[in-house]
Amino acid sequence: MSYISRLISFVGIDENQAELNRERFNEHAKQIPLMCAMLIINLVCMVYPHWQQAPALVIIVLPAILIALVSFRSYRIYRDLSRNISDAEVIKALRGTRYMFSMLGIIVILLSYALLYYAKPDMQIQVVYFLYMTLIGCIFFSMYILQSAVLITFIIMVPSFIFLVFLEDTIFSALAINGLLVSIVIISLVFTQYKRFKGLVKQKAVLLRQGERLRQLNDENKHLANIDTLTSLPNRRRFFTQLDELILRAEQHKNNKIIVGLIDLDGFKRVNDIFGHPTGDDLLIRTSQRLQDILGPGISLSRLGGDEFGLVMTQQDDINNVLEIGEKICDAMRTPFHLRDGTVQIAATVGFVEYPTMADNSKLLFERADYALCYSKQNSKGEPVLFSIEHEQIIREIARIEQQLNEADLDQELSIMFQPVVDIYEQRTSGFEALARWNNSVLGQVRPDIFIRSAEQMGTIGKLTTILLKKALDAASEWPEGLYMSFNLSTYDLASSQTILNIINIIEKSDFPSRNIVFEVTETAVMDDFEKANEALNLLKLQGAKIALDDFGTGYSSLSYVQRLPLEGLKIDRSFINEIANDENTKKIVQTIVTLCKNLHLRCVVEGVETKAQLVALEKVGCRHIQGFYFSKPLTPSKALEYLAQEITIPPEAMHAGWKN
Ligand code: C2E
Ligand code: CA
Ligand code: CA
Repeated sequence: MSYISRLISFVGIDENQAELNRERFNEHAKQIPLMCAMLIINLVCMVYPHWQQAPALVIIVLPAILIALVSFRSYRIYRDLSRNISDAEVIKALRGTRYMFSMLGIIVILLSYALLYYAKPDMQIQVVYFLYMTLIGCIFFSMYILQSAVLITFIIMVPSFIFLVFLEDTIFSALAINGLLVSIVIISLVFTQYKRFKGLVKQKAVLLRQGERLRQLNDENKHLANIDTLTSLPNRRRFFTQLDELILRAEQHKNNKIIVGLIDLDGFKRVNDIFGHPTGDDLLIRTSQRLQDILGPGISLSRLGGDEFGLVMTQQDDINNVLEIGEKICDAMRTPFHLRDGTVQIAATVGFVEYPTMADNSKLLFERADYALCYSKQNSKGEPVLFSIEHEQIIREIARIEQQLNEADLDQELSIMFQPVVDIYEQRTSGFEALARWNNSVLGQVRPDIFIRSAEQMGTIGKLTTILLKKALDAASEWPEGLYMSFNLSTYDLASSQTILNIINIIEKSDFPSRNIVFEVTETAVMDDFEKANEALNLLKLQGAKIALDDFGTGYSSLSYVQRLPLEGLKIDRSFINEIANDENTKKIVQTIVTLCKNLHLRCVVEGVETKAQLVALEKVGCRHIQGFYFSKPLTPSKALEYLAQEITIPPEAMHAGWKN
């Protein structure tokens, strides 16, 4: 590009530089009011001294046309500044200023010629002064539109220079040369200034673009931070922010009901363990799709982590509809999933809570929905549960129990009851199960299953176990020789090496022979961490103690556990006994378990026997060891001694070893 064409493009208006053009327009428009004021003052000062010599056309009409022209243009530009005009309009407005400055230059030069013509000689210099002042002002005011600055300089400078030089007056010639030089200097200054301005606009544009990119990245980050990448559902964080937002809105409107639901998949872990993580992921994706298909408008679904999903419902006024949706979810989850590695069947548990009646903040809503979910898992398999006042009472009660478990003197308040296990072949008691009792100074008698569960949740079960075992062994040391004592252990006891060591220590110190101790554990206790539980049970076995599987038939009843654990006995769960007198199937199941025990040389105890009919039925299927209210309720240690004393005296040769198959 030649220097001239570069100059022309520098001076001109490039349609492709929208940002630059807009900035030029904005800067120019901001200066417009000042320019108008300058022109009016300059014109008045220029023509006023000549009002007696010059005609009205010169001193009134020409300035008036000029002021009208400039004011009109200025008004339009200034108005456009406040309107958000398009890029094309910006270019049009910039180009329009060329005409305005050209007209301005022509009128000013005509006016100056006319005034020079009418002016007295001593007043001519005043005309030249104002002409140049007006020009300098106009150059500065058109500095963002170089074309116009060059045009007006050319229109005013060339004729005035020629005219003044031709006057052949030294002063006017000097003025002409001086004016020319000054305007050249000013024009070059304006060029430099404009170049700097252009650079700044470019920099600003780059910064703006960088800012925009940053904003986009920020938005993307925010999106990713709120999305579960596997299922593309909102994640836990989004679930809580959304809930907080909805609660805030509901607080403002005072009438909004929100339902929060939690869904937990049952059996997902097994699929993950058997088929591997890719299949597990596949299952989660399919689950989320199935859930989305069921849920209608006004219900949002999130993945809270693992196999847990969250629901937020805003348009459900009828609680029956909510439970219906819960049932639909459970049904849908029970339908088999055809995955790439095979077909799997799982299930789901659902818990709901309602805002604001049952909880008024996101944390509490979550906790209570979770409580409803756990409640459903334990008590109403497969049925959705809505958190209710009763649940709240249970939670309060649990809190009171936990407080007392922390504060009470457990050594003093805990005690043991013994329930006899009767060998019906030999017609005598073969042992006792030790059952915990807690008589608290504030709460009174608390059920063992309840306080045991609380102690487990609090992580203090180990302390209770050691207190109870010590008391049980102390009392059992008073019994006649040969009776066994079974003692219940919790999952947490098996998982804690410290508790196992404490138990071993207590056994060693006790006078009761360790070979007559039977530790009862449940399948679920073993399942949580099989290796650890197995290790703990083997340690106890090394001490001479025996192990029995409690509540058999309620859990997985997996034969692999029976085979892999160091077991010497099974206890058939009470739930079978309720039915045994009337139900043939139950009878067959019990018979099968009894046969299994015989074949594996395991002692089989039946618990919860209450009636003669049950006893007769059990006898028929070959049960030998019976525990239950039919023979005796749990007894205090002293009552247990009395009970033993009352038992028919048995000839010494019939004395059993306490533990027979
Ligand atoms: P479990 O180990 O299955 O204990 C048997 C439960 O059945 C006892 O309830 C006993 O009183 C009750 N029972 C016995 N015969 C009958 C009967 O004929 N009919 C009925 N309806 N019930 C009968 P208990 O003492 O309330 O204990 C409940 C549960 O608390 C126990 O179930 C056990 O899981 C837990 N538990 C009790 N003591 C301890 C303990 O010292 N440590 C641990 N970890 N858990 C304990
Ligand atoms: Ca038991
Ligand atoms: Ca049991």
